[in-house]
Amino acid sequence: MDRISISKGDIVRMKIEAIVNASNTSLLGGGGVASSIQKYAGDEYMQACIALGGCNTGEAKITPGFKLNAKYVIHTAGPIWRGGNKGEPELLKNCYDNCLDLAVKNHIKSIAFPSISTGVYRYPVELAIKIALKEIITFLKVHPELEKVVIVCNDERTTRLYKNYLKKIETQNLF
Ligand code: ADP
Repeated sequence: MDRISISKGDIVRMKIEAIVNASNTSLLGGGGVASSIQKYAGDEYMQACIALGGCNTGEAKITPGFKLNAKYVIHTAGPIWRGGNKGEPELLKNCYDNCLDLAVKNHIKSIAFPSISTGVYRYPVELAIKIALKEIITFLKVHPELEKVVIVCNDERTTRLYKNYLKKIETQNLF
């Protein structure tokens, strides 16, 4: 699957059509990815976020990227990890599916994801990568119009875990 790759870096600086914001249900404030985006995207971006009026966990909404390199930001609210029995896997799956659906509806051809929920929301990375990669690869197989998906991680361990699991999927033809 040469349309998916894993990269270590800062998602906010990506030169790509859309980046995904791992936000919270208010779509305002937050730490991690959300606050980095806010720093660079400008005042109009903040106004656009306010106008969205929040987002339920697992859903996705879109705004322009304003001052970012990316033309669009797709916002999603990942699940907070509460032990795994509170619907977290299904909600995380919904995040990826809804972001990808919204991307193709907006004719977006390239998109970068952060590792949703594995920062402030404490979703175990080893579990989250399986959901993320399965959903993205399954989606790419039925949507040839989406040309490129990059998962951007900002730490060594997360990057390595994603890369290793992607290699396993490819060598064992998992999905
Ligand atoms: P959540 O609240 O959904 O857990 P976070 O933004 O706290 O979202 O973190 C999600 C993942 O993104 C974590 O692995 C975190 O280390 C990483 N991250 C934080 N800032 C950036 C950034 N600027 N670029 C790429 N990844 C980032």
